[in-house]
This record gives sequence, structure tokens and C-alpha cells, in this order.
Amino acid sequence: MATLLDGRSLARTLREQLQAKAEAWSNRSGHIPTLALLRAGADEALLSHARSVRRTFERAGFGFQEIEMPAESTTEALVEEVRRLNGEPGVHGILIQEPLPAHVDHNAVVEALNPLKDVDGVHPLNAGRLLQQRGRYHVSSTPLGGITLLERYGITFQGALAVVVGRSNIVGKPLALLLLHRHATVVLCHSRTKGLAELTRQADILCVAVGRAGLITGEMVKPGATVVDFGINVVDGHLVGDVAFDSVAERAGALTPVPGGTGPVTAAMLLRNTLQAAQWLAEQNNTGTAT
Ligand code: NAP
Repeated sequence: MATLLDGRSLARTLREQLQAKAEAWSNRSGHIPTLALLRAGADEALLSHARSVRRTFERAGFGFQEIEMPAESTTEALVEEVRRLNGEPGVHGILIQEPLPAHVDHNAVVEALNPLKDVDGVHPLNAGRLLQQRGRYHVSSTPLGGITLLERYGITFQGALAVVVGRSNIVGKPLALLLLHRHATVVLCHSRTKGLAELTRQADILCVAVGRAGLITGEMVKPGATVVDFGINVVDGHLVGDVAFDSVAERAGALTPVPGGTGPVTAAMLLRNTLQAAQWLAEQNNTGTAT
């Protein structure tokens, strides 16, 4: 039976550490690290995500603002709101809730972000700097959380074969880069990958971020492998991942449960990135240097 990688207890520890760091920084600077969440429309999934982020931020003593624009908002109106938040000294991080309505030019809204306030690392400057490991950059909190969980359990990256299933800009691609930077050999799979099971069966570290319940079954996993499940799916009213838990737990050496695995650590990473953004912005204001 696989060791369960407990994201809840790691997240608790991280939240306590971040709360203490944020308090110390607030005492020195007079600012409370604050996140603004921007969405267009009031979709229930977005509202539920917003409630959960609000709870995390308020419990940790961070600032939190929510800006809801109508679902019919134009690209220009959203870009203008992002620019307003960029110029707001009391806002240090901006998170654009996805998905934006289909008529909105997603790239235009993302590119309007001040990269220093882009705490989910979606601006091309942050994504490019992650690619090249150059300068200061924010990394999306979900892959960062997954890596932090693996590090906490002492999983070896160097020389390991890491297979990542899912290539989104927010999870799969940055995760592949974080693994590569830790000297894993990385295979990045997607919906048009041929022979998925043959690839996953070779993985020492198997990371899955697709959004399809039960995609990865026990026979697709190498005995003893570490399996990280980022999937969030609701099946018969229950939250499940992309991994068929019972059959994979029998073969894997270590496995993240859903819920209680990567999700809680993601939320803690958003706190971390917001504090980091506040510190970087303060340094920039003091020295007058650009990003
Ligand atoms: P996404 O943008 O929809 O991307 C899904 C990826 O899966 C795509 O790259 C897609 O390939 C690939 N894919 C789809 N069907 C596949 C198949 N049968 N075999 C192999 N690959 C397949 O999703 P996302 O935003 O990355 O999110 C992925 C999952 O993680 C979702 O369940 C989401 O709810 C969850 N999530 C979790 C957290 C957390 O904190 N744990 C945070 C964010 C998201 P193509 O590129 O070819 O289309």
C-alpha cells in the first residue's frame, strides 16, 4: 500500500510559517499582503473557489479583495480593471479567475497584468523567466505546491523519469519545467499522446493534471512509483482526482489523496506568492528598479 502524501498537514505548517512571516513584514512595512481576485460572471465553480481562497487568506491574516464584473464585460473593461489593480498600492497580487467568458480576449487580459503582481505566473514574462530560470518570477501555485509536497517527503528528482500528463499553461507545462530544473528527465503527455500507458508505466514520478476521473489505473503505474494527482472531479457528489485511487494505491510507493493532497498546498503557495509579490513591490518602490 502506497504512503499517502499528506497535503493538509504540510499546508497547515506552511500557513503558520507564512502567517508569521507576513506579520513580521507588515510590522516593518505598514502593509498587509493583499490579493485581489478578479472574475467575470458569477459561475458557481468560480464562487466556490473564491470562498475557499478568501478563507485561506483571512485565516492567515492576509488581505483579500474580490472584484466581480458582469459576464458580458468586454475585453477592454477587464483590461482597464486589471490596470486599475496594477496601480492600486494596497493590492500586491492579482488572480484572474478562469475561465473568462468565451468572448473575452484572454491573452489581452493576462498581458495587462503587472508581472510583479501576477501571483499565478500566467504573464508571458513570468512564464518565460521560469523557462530560462532567469531573474525574479512567479510560478503558478498548483505546480509549485506539488513540487513542495514531493520535496517535503524527500522524493528524489535527479535522474528520475518524470511523466507529466496534461500540458496546460497553469499546471502541466510549469510543472514539467520545475521537474526539469531539478534534473528529472521529463516526458510531457497530452490528449494526442500515443501509448500513454506505456509511458506512464516507466515513470518514477507520475504527475497527472487532466480533469478526468479514473484516467490513471493501477496497471498504468510502475510498482513503487510516486504518483501526484492534481485532478479535481466531482463524481456522484464526491470529490475525486484523475487517479483510480484503490488500484493505484496498491502499486504505487507514494500517492497524493484527493481531497487532502495537492489542493491544500496550492492554497498555501498562493499565500507565499502574494507575500513575495508584496516584498518585491516594496523593494521596487524603495530602489526605483524595474522587475
Ligand atoms: P486543462 O487546461 O483542461 O488541461 C487538461 C490537459 O489534459 C490538456 O493538456 C489536455 O491535452 C490533457 N488531456 C485531456 N484528455 C487527456 C487524455 N485522455 N490523455 C492525456 N491527456 C489528456 O486543465 P488544467 O487547468 O491543467 O487542470 C487539470 C486538472 O487539475 C483539472 O481537474 C483541474 O480542476 C485540476 N486543478 C487542480 C488544482 C489543484 O490545486 N490541485 C489547481 C488547478 C487545476 P491537450 O492539451 O491536448 O488538450
